[in-house]
Amino acid sequence: MELIDGNKIAADIIAELKTQVAALPGRPPCLALVRVGEDPASVSYVKKKETASASIGITSRMILPPVTITQEELFALIDGLNADPAVDGILVQSPLPKHINEVAVFRRIAAGKDVDGFHTMNLGKLAQEDDTGFVACTPAGIMELLQRSGVSLAGKHVVVLGRSLIVGKPAALLALQRKPWANATVTVCHSQTANLPALTRQADVLIAAIGKPEFVTADMVKPGAVVIDVGVNRVADATKKSGYRLTGDVHFPTVSPLCSKITPVPGGVGPMTVAMLMQNTVKARRQHT
Ligand code: NAP
Repeated sequence: MELIDGNKIAADIIAELKTQVAALPGRPPCLALVRVGEDPASVSYVKKKETASASIGITSRMILPPVTITQEELFALIDGLNADPAVDGILVQSPLPKHINEVAVFRRIAAGKDVDGFHTMNLGKLAQEDDTGFVACTPAGIMELLQRSGVSLAGKHVVVLGRSLIVGKPAALLALQRKPWANATVTVCHSQTANLPALTRQADVLIAAIGKPEFVTADMVKPGAVVIDVGVNRVADATKKSGYRLTGDVHFPTVSPLCSKITPVPGGVGPMTVAMLMQNTVKARRQHT
């Protein structure tokens, strides 16, 4: 079994992007980071994105509206960023407060600045295999991890667990693309799928993105499979200072000995998400030149 080291691969990409940014003509790329309220997980995620930006030479602009911001006020804020020629990418950190329609907010961001890849236009471009669009960062990171780990998907059976718009669906569309690194046969499973273990056992590559701690057990995995664990779940653990530990959607102790390759949690897909956000921001800057 080989561990796929997301920290190392993400660091390689960050270093490559730094070189690319230094060679860009004109001003550096600029990423607007919008964080509504003080949700601790959002504070930590946005901080990571700010730190990664700084390490590459991307300028970040932090916008921190209060949790009481109205939908209309948030729209106005986004409209201002859309119109600002000094801003290349806009990221609105999820989750947003309950009184705000998140999908409407994601659609409000100009498609050409939607570095999270959640806009209808960018999802459409992904379906059409139009590479001018922005692909959602986590699924893009999964494909990058696979390629850089020497895993060819062509002709393989990829089983994706989860059909969310930010992970499962775009991951399935990417694996399905008519590209040399893709060309997989794809099955997508969800909460209504019947005989789920019978399907996951057919997977040459299993991508688990359901948000259920240690859901995938050894009896659900074909020996020799490649397993990508996207899940990030907090499980109570009295032995930890924080009172919890992070675990994926895969039961790592029993599944990992079976696999040819597997991503750990943390240190697998997570760091790739930030690296792909940086890559999308550099791409947006190039498109605005
Ligand atoms: P989500 O929007 O909640 O979607 C979960 C998907 O899993 C849904 O399609 C759901 O099916 C399916 N599902 C739930 N329970 C299931 C079950 N028992 N059997 C089969 N399918 C089931 O979650 P998400 O945003 O895609 O995130 C998934 C996980 O990835 C979470 O742990 C999240 O924290 C993690 N994540 C990690 C990163 C990263 O950077 N590492 C980024 C994003 C997300 P239905 O559609 O039928 O409800």
